[in-house]
Amino acid sequence: MFKIGCHLSSSKGYNHMAEETVSIGGNTFQFFTRNPRGGAAKPIDPADVELYKKTAAESGISEIIAHAPYTMNPCAATEALREFSLNTMTDDLARLSLTPGALYNFHPGSHVGQGTDAAIELIAELLGKLLAADSENSTPVLLETMSGKGSEVGSKFEELRRIIDLTGGTSRLGVCLDTCHVYDAGYDIVNDLDGVLEEFDRVIGLDRLKAVHLNDSKNPFCSHKDRHEKIGQGSIGVEAFARIINHPALRDLPFCLETPHEDISGYAGEIALLKSLRGE
Ligand SMILES: [Zn+2]
Ligand SMILES: [Zn+2]
Repeated sequence: MFKIGCHLSSSKGYNHMAEETVSIGGNTFQFFTRNPRGGAAKPIDPADVELYKKTAAESGISEIIAHAPYTMNPCAATEALREFSLNTMTDDLARLSLTPGALYNFHPGSHVGQGTDAAIELIAELLGKLLAADSENSTPVLLETMSGKGSEVGSKFEELRRIIDLTGGTSRLGVCLDTCHVYDAGYDIVNDLDGVLEEFDRVIGLDRLKAVHLNDSKNPFCSHKDRHEKIGQGSIGVEAFARIINHPALRDLPFCLETPHEDISGYAGEIALLKSLRGE
């Protein structure tokens, strides 16, 4: 089954997101676990979760992506800021244990002058504490591939591999591949998708790849910029997306759009386009 959907606002709850997803022809979605600028998360409404489970079962929604706030920095330079990230992520995972099929995606962070090696150790230390605190649950935790803007960690597959290794290689850790980010980072998914996926498999292992963010890029190859564009209107282009969503190593993963649209009707058009490229 083609698992396709888009990033949605969680302000009206889980069931509303499921209904919106159905209305645009999707069967997966992503949401921020809380205001990305920080702050407390809204309490989970058990009645909303029950309604959501029913809607999801009826409409074939089996996997959803919960995105951690992108402003927190798991490898921040101060202990207090790292502690904030750890507390936020621990709370997020506790809440996600209530929703079946959730994948928890986060940005590894920015080394802010400490250097990549030091940052990788800090991220692994945080993940170790996080997974120990959440050991009774099993929500997969995904490191997102980054574009390498500023001092971002995670723009090279090797960096993600080292974080996973330093966390003991636990099977709870996976990767979410963002097409805009990897292209901006210098992985040529337009001209050599097979080669990039072979490299991913050799360095990280394709068994760790759990989700794909589908975004075109406003910037050229290897620009280290991270500006998402609508599918087919950027430097990646529609033919490359046809190859990506049909690739045997990717085609069964959940694909989630994070493209710039004013409202969800824009996503409905993209989902229809991508379904036609799948022949569905
Ligand atoms: Zn992200
Ligand atoms: Zn992304």
